[in-house]
Amino acid sequence: MRIYITGPPAIGKTFFSFLLSKITGLPLINFSLQLKKKERAALASNYEVKKAFSQLPAFCIVDGFPRTASQAKLCSDGIIFVITYYDKETIFKNALNRRFCPRCLETYNKRIHKKCPRCHGKLGIRADDDKQILRKRIKNYLKFEKQLLKQQNVFLINLIPKNEQMFLRKVVLLFGFCKK
Ligand SMILES: [Zn+2]
Repeated sequence: MRIYITGPPAIGKTFFSFLLSKITGLPLINFSLQLKKKERAALASNYEVKKAFSQLPAFCIVDGFPRTASQAKLCSDGIIFVITYYDKETIFKNALNRRFCPRCLETYNKRIHKKCPRCHGKLGIRADDDKQILRKRIKNYLKFEKQLLKQQNVFLINLIPKNEQMFLRKVVLLFGFCKK
């Protein structure tokens, strides 16, 4: 079975996926990396998405997917965890933990990656017009979330900061995984 993790930008998807992978032992796949392209999953073409999707292992955690309603339809084989939006300030604060690879144009969490996992280059901080961009992405995300919640295999997660570990334990019990 696959577990898909999605949610608003900078809400902690990657960190949550990383912890979930450690607890369940399921391999962690970053969908943007799976695309093997510089595009974000939200901007990739249907063809690229379907190709990358078809190469996913049968049992894994997929971080950062789905990003659109049509992508969500591909995920009917598994469970979609949606980390819910709570406030803009947390997202802005989390964005400070983000690092950016100028070569791959990809964003990572400094708590997980010290170097770019794709090109092993140095990670930098993104230029700080970020709040504007984040506001726009949150708005787009909320539209997507509304559609997503109509699907049956969707579970909402309210990830209060610093409660991640406790929450993950509950998730693990709920879905009957064994702690490694
Ligand atoms: Zn890179």
